[in-house]
This record gives sequence, structure tokens and C-alpha cells, in this order.
Amino acid sequence: MNWFSTDVDDVLNEQNVDRKRGLSDDQVRTRLEKYGENKLIGKPKKSLFALFFSQLNDMLIYVLLGAAVITLLIGEYTDAIIILLVVLLNAIIGVFQEYKAEKAIEALQKMTTPHALVRRDGEVIEVDSKTIVPGDIIILDAGRYIPADLRLIESINLQIEESALTGESVPSEKNATALFNDPKTPLGDLANMAFMSTLVTYGRAEGVVVGTGMNTEIGKIAKGLDETKSEMTPLQKRLAELGKILGYLAIGICVVIFIVALIQKRDLFEMFLTSISLAVAAIPEGLPAIVAIVLALGVTRMSRIHAIVKRLPAVETLGSVNIICSDKTGTLTQNKMTVLHLYTHGQKLDVPSEGTATAEEHTAQLLIQTMVLCTDATLVDGEGTGDPTEIALLELGEKFHSPKRELESGHERVAEKPFDSDRKLMSTLNKERDHYRVHTKGAIDNLLEIATHALINGERVLLTEQLKTDYLRAAEKMSDQALRVLGAAYKDTDSVIDPDEMEKELTVLGLVGMIDPPRLEVKGAIRQAKQAGITPVMITGDHQHTAAAIAMELGMATSLKQTLSGSEIDAMSEAEFNKNIGNYRVFSRVSPEHKVKIVKAFQSHGNIVSMTGDGVNDAPSLKNADIGVAMGITGTDVSKGASDMILTDDNFTTIVAAIEEGRNIYNNIKKAVVFLLSCNLGEIVAILASVLFYWPVPLLPTQILWINLITDTFPAIALGVDPGDKDVMKRRPRNPKESFFAGGAAIRAIVGGLLIGILTLVAFYFGLNEHGYQLWSESIPKQVLTYAETMAFVVLAVSQLFFSLSMRSASHSIFKVGLFSNKYLIGAIILGVVLQFAVISIPFLASAFHVQMLTLRDWVIVILFALIPLVVNEFIKSGMRMRTK
Ligand code: ADP
Ligand code: MG
Repeated sequence: MNWFSTDVDDVLNEQNVDRKRGLSDDQVRTRLEKYGENKLIGKPKKSLFALFFSQLNDMLIYVLLGAAVITLLIGEYTDAIIILLVVLLNAIIGVFQEYKAEKAIEALQKMTTPHALVRRDGEVIEVDSKTIVPGDIIILDAGRYIPADLRLIESINLQIEESALTGESVPSEKNATALFNDPKTPLGDLANMAFMSTLVTYGRAEGVVVGTGMNTEIGKIAKGLDETKSEMTPLQKRLAELGKILGYLAIGICVVIFIVALIQKRDLFEMFLTSISLAVAAIPEGLPAIVAIVLALGVTRMSRIHAIVKRLPAVETLGSVNIICSDKTGTLTQNKMTVLHLYTHGQKLDVPSEGTATAEEHTAQLLIQTMVLCTDATLVDGEGTGDPTEIALLELGEKFHSPKRELESGHERVAEKPFDSDRKLMSTLNKERDHYRVHTKGAIDNLLEIATHALINGERVLLTEQLKTDYLRAAEKMSDQALRVLGAAYKDTDSVIDPDEMEKELTVLGLVGMIDPPRLEVKGAIRQAKQAGITPVMITGDHQHTAAAIAMELGMATSLKQTLSGSEIDAMSEAEFNKNIGNYRVFSRVSPEHKVKIVKAFQSHGNIVSMTGDGVNDAPSLKNADIGVAMGITGTDVSKGASDMILTDDNFTTIVAAIEEGRNIYNNIKKAVVFLLSCNLGEIVAILASVLFYWPVPLLPTQILWINLITDTFPAIALGVDPGDKDVMKRRPRNPKESFFAGGAAIRAIVGGLLIGILTLVAFYFGLNEHGYQLWSESIPKQVLTYAETMAFVVLAVSQLFFSLSMRSASHSIFKVGLFSNKYLIGAIILGVVLQFAVISIPFLASAFHVQMLTLRDWVIVILFALIPLVVNEFIKSGMRMRTK
């Protein structure tokens, strides 16, 4: 059946649904069973098995597998088994990390799935789009995603952007009453249909679901579509590069060593093992996994503080943000509005906070009537739904004995022109007894521009310049007290007129002023942001004075001079605007295009800008900003789709908290990576030095593999979840161009690596010396060598573990940071030492790794050696602290 050629009533019959009541819960349940969930099925997810094999596709693994084969051929079965076990363990840990990271991201994606308004059992409710079934009656308004394929039942000025389906980005006009008899009508022309995954840019509508899930137009082309594209962050990309370079370097060094060994006429098999050791030491195989898991754990933590990160790269960018552009209403304020005053020309009427009142004067009565009729919100038993501005108006109506329900029964709405943030007006056309009346409400300045008359003391008079000034002055007076001001006007017509004809030749009625108290916690967040080198900026559609009053109250601005209005922006040249942008903290009466201009102007100075948005038209500015932030509660699906991050509590404070988290996550990744690299460097130093100086090599490949297993995993992850530095919001934002190794990170890695490597050699030397041998002695007995190797082995492992403590802060001492404040790290270190103890003390493990048990005295010595890198690093830090003081 072609739904677009079928009459609405027949479609409803066919779907067996009453459009006024919608489906019943029972019907929904049986249909859900029959048709399945309403979702697109992407490519099947990687199975654990596939995930496991993808871990093996790695340079290090090839090296190791090669090594295993050769050790097998030579008959060193234990070595082969250890290598294979390590490969296996590494892969399992890798699978676990990747799985965990993926789950975390998936859980976040679930939080952002769109909801839909649907009529069921006679009531309009919001449900998860997955539960939509054929026959459901869907209510659409501007900014919503269309949850399934719909045959439209009713449409008012409906426009839908269908680029997801047709590639056409200009919205198509829809019309529920159209019929298309040609079965081959192209999708883009079907004005009486709305398709899944497209979005409403304008108007309202109702439709009945005719296809869900894969049985939709998008479902037909989406078969096998991979939805969860993972995007690497800039840092991940850079580290992947670094990893590759280090990998090639390692192979290069191995070749060199092999040649040196040939020249030195060393035992070839041994040298082969040494080269492998070196490769294992140098290839930073843990890097990508650590970064992925730290990012995933970080964004999970952020979702708990109400910030859902949609794209991982945003986490990094967050740490660099230095301008936060924020909406006023709802983000900086509570979005709980109450009308305080009414103003009709020359008369002000205060609204009682409790109880009811009567408006004696005719103009005031009409003002209230227009304000109430020109709303889409509802108020039932004191419970409002919809725009808080409109709810406040409905509450005003109830206080003045004009509840919307009652009013509407005598004044049915026949047409309308919806609110948009460009016009800042909304109009409805309502039926009167013998004629029609346009009711318009909105920004008073915009109203005065299109009005020709005013109603004063019940008399319609010409709107003179003097009168305009009077209205504006009254509005300004209210605005200066941080009140949100809304004007109202009307006009009478004989017949139903086109929406485009409504907002002309209006008669002004007056104004209302409503408070929207600032959020209490925002003041503190603004202070914190400023301390952190971030400039908060307010961007609002509201009146200049209202905006300035609130900005000053919150500490964002100090004078009216720091505000700029949309029309003032228009009057400036782009160059002039860009040049002066830094002088302003408040932008008022802006439209969505201004927001894009503001973002670009700030960016032209190299700023990293975050921008909030909620409306349909905010998508361009959200996309242009470095961090587009959508409102979780009041935001449209469109704005959420265009954003990098969603605030589930719509609160400004959350943006600042998210920036703090972003900074911490970046720092923690840095700690983990620098730690991994210094460990690897230590291993390289120990082996390379011994080869070059013709000493016995202190470490076997299996031993290095083991050490990497216990240091690259738990301690590195523990560093990645380090509790944030208390001072992190006292510093300036990180320059995004700054090198990853800036701020002494490279020096720390090198010093740490050198110390670890040298101490490993010292321990080795110490072990030989105990039995009267030197590094350069000829034919050292096997037992002595094993003893010395064990000393080196333990020092290498334990010094790395201890050293991790020092990585927690680049400047503060480990005691200032709190020795035990990262429980995971302490746990990881203890676990590492215990495992190290086990491997040399349990006889069969000890013989497999070619090590031996150590006495208590040896352990004391080894521990003392192992503490040295930590201690030296702490001394360097304290030296640096003294110098900067
Ligand atoms: P913001 O969210 O920054 O406060 P809005 O875009 O919501 O700004 O509103 C801008 C202006 O548009 C308001 O100051 C008001 O004059 C007008 N306005 C807001 N909501 C409505 C509405 N529902 N109907 C008519 N006018 C409105
Ligand atoms: Mg708003």
C-alpha cells in the first residue's frame, strides 16, 4: 500500500488507531512484539573473539611470535611457553580494556537517544523512540527528530530538513492534505509524509506511524551501516604516530645490536634474544590501550556530573577552552519565571504573589487575554508543561481569572505563526464572535517596529514616536531590575488570514515584566572560571538591560559598556567587530546568525570557544564552536545532534566542571604516557649499555615481558584515574598547540628512564661483585650470573613501580599530593611487588624465568636501589619549586 496515495482516514483505519486517543498500552505491547524495536540495525558488533584477534594484529606481537617460533626450534620450550602466555595475557588484557572502553561509550550513546512525543491512551507522553510502533500518533514540533516513517495527519507551516535521506539540505514544505497518485513520486516530493531521521525545522504537525525500524526509508539504505564510528582524538593520533616511530626505532636498534654482536663475536642465539628483549622494551604496546581506557573512564565520570561527551576529541578540547559563551535563560538563570508587573500605557499594575486579582482597566484585561491565548504551553492543576516564559503567562491568566482552557473555548485558534529566535515574536489567529483577532507577543522593540497603533485607556490611537519612547522607557525600567520583558499586540480581521499577513499593522497593548532568578551556584562557577583563565560570556535573545543586570549580578560584567546588541553587531564591519570582540561580555538581542559571528570573532584571536545552544537554529553556531554544548532538558534534538557535549542539567556550572574534568583527564593521560615511556627507556638503557660496553646482558626477553606486564597495566591505568590536582583550575588553559611533552614532561621521562636503567645495571654489577666478579670478567659462572640477573630484574620492576608515585604531580611532592590519595596506584604497586616476589620465590616460576630466590638482606638492598629514581625525581621537583618561588 502506498501511504502517500491514501486518504488520512483510510490510513488510520488500516493502522487500526483512533487519532484522538492513539494506541492503547496493550496494542503497543503486541505491536512491539510483532514489529520489533524501532531502531536501525547497524553492522553486527565485533565479537569478543574478533576483538581478541584484532589485538594480535600488532608489531610487537609479530616480533614475539617470531621469537616464540625460534625458541621452539632451538628447543627452549619454557621460553616459548612464557612468550606465548604473555602474548595471550596481553591480548586478554587488551580485549578487556577495549571492551570496557566500548561499553562506556555505548552507555553514553544510549543516554543521548532521541525521545518522541506520542499520543497513547488519549494522553501525550514522551517516550524513547525505540518503543514507537506502527499506528502510533506522533506529535512533531520544531527541532525534533522524526522517530519513524509517518503519514502526516495534520500540518501547520511544517518544514522538514531531509538531508539525511535525500541529501537536500533546504527544508521541504510539508502538507498533510496533499495526495500523490503516482506510485513513483520521488521521496523528496512526498509532502504528506515524514521520514525517520529527518528533522523538523519549523512548524507543528501530527502523523501516524506507517513504518518503524529497518522497515523505513532510511532503514532501506542504512542496511549494514556502521553507526558507531569511533573517532581518534588529536592526542591519540599523535601518540599512534609516536608509537609507530618508536616501533621502527626499536627494530633499527635491534638490527644495529645484532651487527655489533656479530662484530664482537658474541653468541648469536643470545644476541638474538637480546634484540628481542630490546624490541619488547622499546615498543610502547600499552600506549593506545591506556589512552583509550583513560578517556573512556573519564567520560563516564563526566556523565555522572551531568556532562555527556558525544565525541571523544571533545574531552581534550575542553581542557583548552578559554571562552565560555553561554545562554542566559535556563543556563545562568533558573528558568522559573513569574510575572511581577503589567504595564499598559501610563499605568503599572503589580501582580500579587499569592491569591487572585482583577484588572479593572480594559487594556490590561486585553493584555492578559492576548498573553494567555498566544501560548503553546499548558497549565493543569498548577503543573505547567512547555516554555517557562509561557507557563508564567498562563499563571498570570489564572491569577486574573482568565485560565487558558476557559478563554480558548470562546476563542478557538485557527492559525498561527510560531515563535522563532530571529523574529522574537509569536502570533495566533483566534476566532471571536463575529470576526477574527491576531494575538502577538514577543520582544517589545520588535513589536513596536511593526505596530501602527496603541490601545490606551480602551481607545485605539496612532502610535507616535512619543508613545514608542514611553513604551521603551517602561520596558527599560523593568529590564534594569533584571526583569524579562514581553510585549503584546493585536489586530482584528474579518477573515482567516495567511500567517505572513499576521504581524503587520498591530495595535500595542502593553508589557509584562517577569523575573527569572539567577541560579545561585553560578556565581561561584563564574569566579572559578575566571581564576582558571576562562572568560564567561553571556549570549541572549533577551533585552540589553535585562541581560546586563543579570550579568552584573553574576559577576560576568561590570558595566553596561560591556554589552553589545545584535543590531550593533550588524552595524559594525566584520573587521571592526573581530577587533573589538574582547571588550564585550554580554551580547543581547542576538539571533542565531549573530552567534556564529561571535564564535568566529573570538576564534580569530586564537581563542578556544565553547558555545551553548538549544534551538533549531543553533546548529551552525554549535558546529562552528570548538565545543558545542547542547541543553539536555530544554534543547531540541537538532541542537543535541550538532553538539559535542550535552548538559543533562542545563546548568552553566556543569560546563565549568566539565572543563575541570577535561583538564584532569588530559593531565592523567600525560602522567600515564610519560610513565610508560620512562619505563621503556629504562629497559632500553640497561640493555643497550650492556651490549655497547660488551657486558653480559642483565635481562632476558621473558623477564622484560613480565615486567612490562606488571607495570604497563595496573600502575599506568591507576595513574590515568588519578584524582585531579586541586590547583588545576588555578592555572591558565592549555594551549592546544602545546606539545604533549611540554612543561618538563620530556625531561622527566628521560631522567626517570636513565635512572631506572642505570640502577638496573648497578644492581647487576652489585650482584656480580658480591661474588667477586666484574661486568667485564671473563666466564662468569652461571649461578653468579643468575643471582646478578635476579637483582637487576627486581630492581627494574620495583623501581618502575615506585617511580609511578612521582609521576602524579609535575611539581608537588608526593607527600603534598598525598601518598595514599590514589588508592588504585598504591594497590597496583603492592600487587606488583607481591607478584615480583612470587615470581622469584615460587620455584617453578623462578626456574622458568631463570631467576632465583633472594634473601631478606638482598631484598633490603634491592628496595633501597629501587627507591632512588623516585627520591631523585622528588629532589629535582623540590629544586624546581624553590627556583620558581
Ligand atoms: P534567551 O533564551 O537568550 O533568553 P530567547 O531567544 O528565548 O532568549 O528569547 C528572546 C526574546 O524573545 C525574549 O526576550 C522575548 O522577548 C522573546 N520571546 C521569548 N520566548 C517567547 C515566546 N514564547 N513567545 C514570544 N516571544 C518570546
Ligand atoms: Mg530561550
